[in-house]
Amino acid sequence: MMQTIQENLQHVQAQLPEGVALVAVSKFHPHERLMEAYEAGQRVFGESHEREMTEKHEVLPADIEWHFIGHLQTNKVKYIAPYVGMIDAVDSLRLLREIEKQAARCQRVIPVLLELHIAQEATKYGLTLDDCRQLLADGEWRSMTHVSIQGLMMMASFTDDHEQIRREFLTAKAFFDEVKHDYFADDDHFRIRSWGMSDDFPIAVECGSTMVRVGTSIFGPREY
Ligand SMILES: *Cc1c(COP(=O)(O)O)cnc(C)c1O
Repeated sequence: MMQTIQENLQHVQAQLPEGVALVAVSKFHPHERLMEAYEAGQRVFGESHEREMTEKHEVLPADIEWHFIGHLQTNKVKYIAPYVGMIDAVDSLRLLREIEKQAARCQRVIPVLLELHIAQEATKYGLTLDDCRQLLADGEWRSMTHVSIQGLMMMASFTDDHEQIRREFLTAKAFFDEVKHDYFADDDHFRIRSWGMSDDFPIAVECGSTMVRVGTSIFGPREY
């Protein structure tokens, strides 16, 4: 028998230690299903398409915190800047600059995460560790008063090899510690480690994740 969304949410929540936030990834799911999660107490939702997220934002309750978790094209930033709660997957300086520009226009400070590319798949977006080091060393971000860099995000390789997944998460964790030490030691906002999805979030939590992004285990399979 199908579990309800409320039961699924509880099942996921029960596996998260205190202090680990849950982003309910609702992409491709209709409003009614999001509302089921909302009524069960969930307030943070993740979407990966600008139009879809904006439409949902317009009709669903105003206290939902919307995370943009996908690859964001610079020309789409302006549509989400007025309301987005966090942009989880910043993968270039160019995108960061555009977020700064649009956030300034809205007189907001937008929280962001830098997305790392650690997985083996060539298709995944994100900064290599060296790209990320370079972006931070370059220092332009320090002058961006309308973005708040609050941590790192990454996706592990799509594989059944748990040891490999674990290695990738631990690489991300070590890199977080490095960057925290080198650039954000005095910045309490820089504390988010976003890794872990339906198939691997228990491993991610063991490897220091503080924010998991879970879709299928809550809402069931997506219908594209
Ligand atoms: C779709 C997506 C998720 C959720 O994936 P599930 O396997 O359904 O939990 C998490 N993070 C990102 C970046 C995604 O695009």
